[in-house]
Amino acid sequence: MENQCDTVFHELLHVTGLTDEYQETQKGYSRNPRSHSLHWTDHQAQLAAYDCRPNYVGSSMMKDEHEKWGLAGLNPDAQWTLTTTACQCANPTLCQRYRQEHMTGFGFQPLRQSQCPEGFTAAFSESQAISEKIHSEMLALPSGVGFHDTHGLSPDKLIEMPILESFAPLVPENLLEPRHLNAILYPNCLAKNNAYYVESQNSKRTSVQHGGQGCLNVDLLQAATQARLAAPLN
Ligand SMILES: [Zn+2]
Repeated sequence: MENQCDTVFHELLHVTGLTDEYQETQKGYSRNPRSHSLHWTDHQAQLAAYDCRPNYVGSSMMKDEHEKWGLAGLNPDAQWTLTTTACQCANPTLCQRYRQEHMTGFGFQPLRQSQCPEGFTAAFSESQAISEKIHSEMLALPSGVGFHDTHGLSPDKLIEMPILESFAPLVPENLLEPRHLNAILYPNCLAKNNAYYVESQNSKRTSVQHGGQGCLNVDLLQAATQARLAAPLN
Protein backbone atom coordinates (compact mmCIF):
# COMPACT_ATOMS: atom_id res chain seq x y z
CA MET A 1 0.00 0.00 0.00
CA GLU A 2 1.14 3.51 -0.80
CA ASN A 3 2.59 5.58 2.01
CA GLN A 4 -0.19 7.98 3.05
CA CYS A 5 1.33 9.55 6.17
CA ASP A 6 1.06 12.99 4.56
CA THR A 7 -2.71 12.66 4.05
CA VAL A 8 -3.27 11.25 7.54
CA PHE A 9 -1.28 14.13 9.01
CA HIS A 10 -3.27 16.68 6.96
CA GLU A 11 -6.52 15.22 8.33
CA LEU A 12 -5.16 15.24 11.90
CA LEU A 13 -4.36 18.94 11.50
CA HIS A 14 -8.05 19.51 10.70
CA VAL A 15 -8.87 17.98 14.07
CA THR A 16 -6.70 20.67 15.71
CA GLY A 17 -8.83 23.31 13.95
CA LEU A 18 -6.74 24.15 10.87
CA THR A 19 -8.64 24.82 7.64
CA ASP A 20 -7.91 23.91 4.02
CA GLU A 21 -5.75 26.29 1.99
CA TYR A 22 -5.81 24.79 -1.51
CA GLN A 23 -7.73 26.39 -4.36
CA GLU A 24 -10.76 24.27 -5.24
CA THR A 25 -10.87 23.23 -8.90
CA GLN A 26 -13.61 20.57 -9.06
CA LYS A 27 -16.44 21.31 -6.62
CA GLY A 28 -18.77 24.25 -7.10
CA TYR A 29 -21.72 25.43 -9.14
CA SER A 30 -22.61 24.89 -12.78
CA ARG A 31 -25.34 26.58 -14.76
CA ASN A 32 -28.15 24.56 -16.30
CA PRO A 33 -28.04 25.52 -20.03
CA ARG A 34 -31.87 25.60 -20.24
CA SER A 35 -33.08 27.10 -16.99
CA HIS A 36 -29.85 29.07 -16.32
CA SER A 37 -30.20 28.13 -12.65
CA LEU A 38 -27.12 27.13 -10.68
CA HIS A 39 -26.70 23.68 -9.20
CA TRP A 40 -23.97 22.17 -7.01
CA THR A 41 -21.58 19.65 -8.55
CA ASP A 42 -18.56 17.72 -7.19
CA HIS A 43 -16.76 17.53 -10.54
CA GLN A 44 -15.70 20.08 -13.15
CA ALA A 45 -17.77 22.93 -11.75
CA GLN A 46 -17.99 26.01 -13.98
CA LEU A 47 -17.75 28.26 -10.92
CA ALA A 48 -15.29 26.92 -8.34
CA ALA A 49 -16.49 26.74 -4.74
CA TYR A 50 -14.62 28.22 -1.75
CA ASP A 51 -13.08 31.00 -3.81
CA CYS A 52 -13.12 33.19 -0.66
CA ARG A 53 -10.38 30.93 0.74
CA PRO A 54 -7.11 32.75 1.46
CA ASN A 55 -4.38 32.04 -1.07
CA TYR A 56 -1.16 31.84 0.98
CA VAL A 57 2.23 32.14 -0.70
CA GLY A 58 4.47 29.08 -0.51
CA SER A 59 3.81 25.43 0.19
CA SER A 60 1.77 24.28 3.16
CA MET A 61 0.41 21.10 4.73
CA MET A 62 -3.12 22.50 4.35
CA LYS A 63 -2.61 23.42 0.70
CA ASP A 64 -0.77 20.42 -0.76
CA GLU A 65 0.35 17.88 1.81
CA HIS A 66 2.23 15.70 -0.72
CA GLU A 67 4.30 18.65 -1.92
CA LYS A 68 5.00 19.89 1.63
CA TRP A 69 5.92 16.41 2.91
CA GLY A 70 8.57 16.23 0.19
CA LEU A 71 9.88 19.76 0.83
CA ALA A 72 10.18 18.91 4.55
CA GLY A 73 12.53 16.09 3.53
CA LEU A 74 10.16 13.34 4.71
CA ASN A 75 10.07 11.37 1.46
CA PRO A 76 13.00 8.94 1.59
CA ASP A 77 14.02 9.62 -2.03
CA ALA A 78 13.62 13.43 -1.94
CA GLN A 79 17.05 14.89 -2.63
CA TRP A 80 16.56 17.96 -4.81
CA THR A 81 14.32 21.01 -4.87
CA LEU A 82 12.96 21.95 -8.27
CA THR A 83 11.80 25.57 -8.37
CA THR A 84 9.63 26.72 -11.24
CA THR A 85 9.26 30.46 -11.79
CA ALA A 86 6.89 32.16 -14.21
CA CYS A 87 8.08 35.49 -15.66
CA GLN A 88 5.55 38.23 -16.26
CA CYS A 89 5.99 40.97 -18.85
CA ALA A 90 7.24 44.29 -17.40
CA ASN A 91 8.27 46.05 -20.63
CA PRO A 92 5.94 45.35 -23.59
CA THR A 93 8.51 46.26 -26.27
CA LEU A 94 11.22 43.99 -24.86
CA CYS A 95 8.71 41.20 -24.19
CA GLN A 96 7.42 41.36 -27.74
CA ARG A 97 10.94 41.08 -29.09
CA TYR A 98 11.78 38.20 -26.77
CA ARG A 99 8.62 36.29 -27.69
CA GLN A 100 9.27 36.70 -31.40
CA GLU A 101 12.82 35.41 -31.06
CA HIS A 102 12.35 32.62 -28.50
CA MET A 103 8.75 31.63 -28.02
CA THR A 104 7.50 30.92 -31.49
CA GLY A 105 5.46 27.77 -31.81
CA PHE A 106 5.16 25.73 -28.64
CA GLY A 107 5.43 28.60 -26.16
CA PHE A 108 5.93 26.66 -22.91
CA GLN A 109 9.71 26.45 -22.82
CA PRO A 110 11.32 26.07 -19.40
CA LEU A 111 14.71 27.78 -19.28
CA ARG A 112 17.60 26.56 -17.12
CA GLN A 113 18.54 29.95 -15.75
CA SER A 114 17.90 31.78 -12.50
CA GLN A 115 16.91 35.20 -13.90
CA CYS A 116 13.90 36.12 -16.04
CA PRO A 117 14.80 37.38 -19.55
CA GLU A 118 15.19 41.15 -20.00
CA GLY A 119 11.80 42.89 -19.96
CA PHE A 120 10.20 40.31 -17.62
CA THR A 121 9.96 40.05 -13.82
CA ALA A 122 9.46 36.94 -11.68
CA ALA A 123 5.74 36.76 -10.93
CA PHE A 124 5.05 33.35 -9.53
CA SER A 125 7.28 30.66 -8.11
CA GLU A 126 6.74 27.21 -6.66
CA SER A 127 8.99 24.44 -5.40
CA GLN A 128 8.73 20.70 -5.16
CA ALA A 129 11.04 17.96 -3.91
CA ILE A 130 12.28 15.50 -6.52
CA SER A 131 14.41 12.37 -6.43
CA GLU A 132 17.91 12.00 -7.85
CA LYS A 133 16.40 9.87 -10.66
CA ILE A 134 13.95 12.58 -11.77
CA HIS A 135 16.67 15.22 -11.39
CA SER A 136 19.05 13.40 -13.73
CA GLU A 137 16.24 12.61 -16.18
CA MET A 138 15.28 16.28 -16.33
CA LEU A 139 18.89 17.37 -16.84
CA ALA A 140 19.15 14.92 -19.74
CA LEU A 141 16.22 16.63 -21.48
CA PRO A 142 17.05 19.62 -23.64
CA SER A 143 16.01 22.97 -22.16
CA GLY A 144 12.73 23.86 -23.86
CA VAL A 145 10.93 20.64 -23.05
CA GLY A 146 8.34 21.17 -20.33
CA PHE A 147 6.64 18.29 -18.62
CA HIS A 148 5.51 19.41 -15.19
CA ASP A 149 2.47 21.57 -14.70
CA THR A 150 2.57 25.00 -13.14
CA HIS A 151 -0.31 25.37 -10.71
CA GLY A 152 -2.47 28.41 -11.05
CA LEU A 153 -1.46 29.35 -14.58
CA SER A 154 -3.85 28.78 -17.45
CA PRO A 155 -2.45 27.48 -20.77
CA ASP A 156 -2.91 30.87 -22.48
CA LYS A 157 -0.84 32.51 -19.72
CA LEU A 158 1.89 29.88 -20.10
CA ILE A 159 2.21 30.75 -23.77
CA GLU A 160 2.90 34.37 -22.84
CA MET A 161 5.23 33.74 -19.91
CA PRO A 162 8.75 32.35 -20.03
CA ILE A 163 9.18 29.67 -17.36
CA LEU A 164 12.43 29.14 -15.45
CA GLU A 165 13.55 25.87 -13.88
CA SER A 166 16.26 25.66 -11.26
CA PHE A 167 17.55 22.82 -9.10
CA ALA A 168 19.14 22.98 -5.64
CA PRO A 169 20.03 20.31 -3.08
CA LEU A 170 17.04 19.84 -0.79
CA VAL A 171 17.20 21.84 2.45
CA PRO A 172 14.21 20.59 4.49
CA GLU A 173 11.53 23.20 5.27
CA ASN A 174 9.49 23.24 8.48
CA LEU A 175 6.42 21.05 8.14
CA LEU A 176 4.11 23.69 9.69
CA GLU A 177 3.84 27.41 8.98
CA PRO A 178 4.00 29.87 11.92
CA ARG A 179 0.22 30.51 11.56
CA HIS A 180 -0.42 26.78 12.03
CA LEU A 181 1.91 26.42 15.02
CA ASN A 182 0.47 29.46 16.77
CA ALA A 183 -3.10 28.23 16.26
CA ILE A 184 -2.22 24.81 17.72
CA LEU A 185 0.01 25.98 20.59
CA TYR A 186 -1.98 29.09 21.61
CA PRO A 187 -5.67 28.31 21.03
CA ASN A 188 -8.01 31.29 21.50
CA CYS A 189 -5.08 33.68 21.77
CA LEU A 190 -6.32 36.52 19.57
CA ALA A 191 -3.14 38.52 20.03
CA LYS A 192 -1.30 35.79 18.11
CA ASN A 193 -4.00 34.30 15.93
CA ASN A 194 -6.40 37.11 15.01
CA ALA A 195 -5.40 37.32 11.34
CA TYR A 196 -5.44 33.53 10.91
CA TYR A 197 -8.81 33.07 12.64
CA VAL A 198 -10.40 35.76 10.48
CA GLU A 199 -8.93 34.40 7.23
CA SER A 200 -9.92 30.84 8.18
CA GLN A 201 -13.57 31.87 8.40
CA ASN A 202 -13.47 32.34 4.62
CA SER A 203 -12.08 28.86 4.00
CA LYS A 204 -15.49 27.24 3.42
CA ARG A 205 -17.18 30.28 1.86
CA THR A 206 -17.98 30.91 -1.80
CA SER A 207 -18.38 34.36 -3.37
CA VAL A 208 -21.78 35.57 -4.62
CA GLN A 209 -20.37 35.66 -8.19
CA HIS A 210 -19.59 31.95 -7.83
CA GLY A 211 -23.05 31.11 -6.53
CA GLY A 212 -22.33 31.23 -2.79
CA GLN A 213 -23.27 33.36 0.21
CA GLY A 214 -20.37 35.77 -0.27
CA CYS A 215 -16.96 36.30 1.32
CA LEU A 216 -16.48 37.84 4.74
CA ASN A 217 -14.63 41.15 4.75
CA VAL A 218 -11.34 40.12 6.36
CA ASP A 219 -10.09 43.68 6.94
CA LEU A 220 -13.29 44.74 8.73
CA LEU A 221 -13.35 41.64 10.94
CA GLN A 222 -9.69 42.05 11.85
CA ALA A 223 -10.15 45.72 12.68
CA ALA A 224 -13.18 44.89 14.86
CA THR A 225 -11.21 42.33 16.91
CA GLN A 226 -8.24 44.68 17.13
CA ALA A 227 -10.50 47.43 18.47
CA ARG A 228 -11.98 45.03 21.01
CA LEU A 229 -8.50 43.98 22.18
CA ALA A 230 -7.42 47.60 22.52
CA ALA A 231 -10.51 48.70 24.49
CA PRO A 232 -9.93 49.13 28.25
CA LEU A 233 -11.53 46.47 30.46
CA ASN A 234 -14.36 47.75 32.65
ZN1 LIG B 1 -8.28 19.09 4.13
